[in-house]
Amino acid sequence: MVTRTTHPKIHVLPGDLVGRIAAGEVVERPAAVVKELVDNSLDAGSTFVSIEVEDGGLARITVTDNGEGMQREDAVLAFTRHATSKIRSDQDLLAIRTLGFRGEALPSMAAVAQIQLVTTVPGASVGTRLRVRAGSIESIEDAAVPAGTHIDVRELFFNTPARKKFLKTPATEFSHILQAVQQAALAWPTVHVRLTRNGQEVLHCGAVTSFRERLMQIYRASALGEMVSVHRESPGLRIDGVTIGAEHLRGSRTPQEIFVNRRPVKNATILHAVTDAYGPLLPRGRYPRFVLFLDIDPARIDVNVHPTKREIRFSDTEAVHRLVRQAVKEALGDGADTVSASSGGGAALARVIGESLRVAPRWAGDASRVAEPSHSAQPRAGIATEPLFPASVGSEMSSTAPVARGAPVEVVPFGQMDRTYLIARVGDELQIIDQHTAHERVLYERLWRARQAESAQAQALLEPIPLELPAHQRALIEPHVEELGRLGLTIEPFGLDSFLLRSVPAALGTADGLALVQGLLEDMDEWRNYASMASKMHPVIATLACHSAVRAGRHMALSEISGLIEDWAAEGMMMTCPHGRRVALRLPGEELDRIFGRD
Ligand code: ADP
Ligand code: MG
Repeated sequence: MVTRTTHPKIHVLPGDLVGRIAAGEVVERPAAVVKELVDNSLDAGSTFVSIEVEDGGLARITVTDNGEGMQREDAVLAFTRHATSKIRSDQDLLAIRTLGFRGEALPSMAAVAQIQLVTTVPGASVGTRLRVRAGSIESIEDAAVPAGTHIDVRELFFNTPARKKFLKTPATEFSHILQAVQQAALAWPTVHVRLTRNGQEVLHCGAVTSFRERLMQIYRASALGEMVSVHRESPGLRIDGVTIGAEHLRGSRTPQEIFVNRRPVKNATILHAVTDAYGPLLPRGRYPRFVLFLDIDPARIDVNVHPTKREIRFSDTEAVHRLVRQAVKEALGDGADTVSASSGGGAALARVIGESLRVAPRWAGDASRVAEPSHSAQPRAGIATEPLFPASVGSEMSSTAPVARGAPVEVVPFGQMDRTYLIARVGDELQIIDQHTAHERVLYERLWRARQAESAQAQALLEPIPLELPAHQRALIEPHVEELGRLGLTIEPFGLDSFLLRSVPAALGTADGLALVQGLLEDMDEWRNYASMASKMHPVIATLACHSAVRAGRHMALSEISGLIEDWAAEGMMMTCPHGRRVALRLPGEELDRIFGRD
């Protein structure tokens, strides 16, 4: 029999427990404390923010700024839940221009740590010192300190052992802190940012006037040298930043920084747009690396969708996706590595000989004009006053002399090196061409065009090839059977669990049907990441082209060499294969003259 108690089963939790539960949402780990405090300093218009951390932030986190400070009554109120100076009405929620607005950070920290706050407003003769412990104010006294705010957070999670147990080592917690500080520094180049760990300086970024200079303070020059600049605008929307050149794609995903109105966020729309822009240039297991700043009218985003504000929602996702995708595509532009005849000999040579000489980004020397200092007493909208990279720099980086499709060129083949690289005179250029990637590009273009024109021809196999596939592979390929058929790759169900391969795309020449299907199956897992069928066509065709193209290591006769180069030239001499690898080195005659001192 069930024993019933006479007590009601529901009861209201005591206030301090409520505070600790709520704090858990905002203050997940020491880095969250650092982020919230630095956000507050930035919202207060500081031009200097110093962060000191001990023991991964568990023993102590101190943030000192030179911002607008707080009057005594405000300082006391700041520790009350939902007390904020940043919004007043629900109207304000529709266009938030500050990093903070929920009024939760200070009370949340206070619930799970010991806090000392010292703050003075500019011009005041005396400031305030507050001590807060486990959510309640213990003392208020006068303090004689310079204008600004100094917050000291000690013994984080002293009263929430469960939370403490889930933290990682101090080194890991510190790495999250470092990331949070770097993000703030990236978004606010005009602010002097400093971070110490157990008394040792880890990061020191003096105030600079542009995002470019700040990037250079934070990332290695060699890493930036692999980046191309991104810039594009549409009404009420602007994207700036850098993204990795297609030829430098690697397995690493850092950095992948997205800032929307200077707020670091995770955003699937932007990430997808970037990935989509690389499209078939993105081989499996490689990821784009980028630092992108999106500026948008604050009325067009909702920043109030996540307790730690690391997610946002756009009112017009499509417009954002389109802008970002186009901007990144433009930045990647085919043939960005073509030696342009007009560029200076030394620089051009460095680009021909290899990236190793390109130690500094091309815009490194251009620490140009002074941007409007963006701090003021008024919280800023985050819409920067100057494009991240001047347009002229951006366009120079992606300068390509596009070759019109079909323009006939004279090809004089000299031979092959290592059965991999073709060497030839092409028009008035000496070219070294990767036989596989060039062929891949040709096949890709042909198949793509045929598909667009709905005229892809199928080349029937003399004997259909039976394909016995395990269930999970059948499930992968089944949804694509129709689309593949339109490309000329005909796969028919055969019996209960097999297929018959009946034809291959004619544009691919004498393709090995079985290898094609195997290649497709391997790549198919990836296609789920592409939203529309139209964008799925890229990887499908890229895969088909790759598995049909001549391999490195195969001997090619001179006639084959010139045939392939003519085909590649006829397709527009594109400088990357559909997966993003380089196709050719091009050295114009004038460049040779310059190199050998004949000009
Ligand atoms: P929110 O930032 O969402 O308003 P917080 O709990 O982080 O909420 O801070 C509460 C209020 O305290 C802020 O609205 C601001 O007025 C004040 N404040 C906090 N930190 C600072 C600071 N470093 N300088 C000046 N004012 C601050
Ligand atoms: Mg705040």
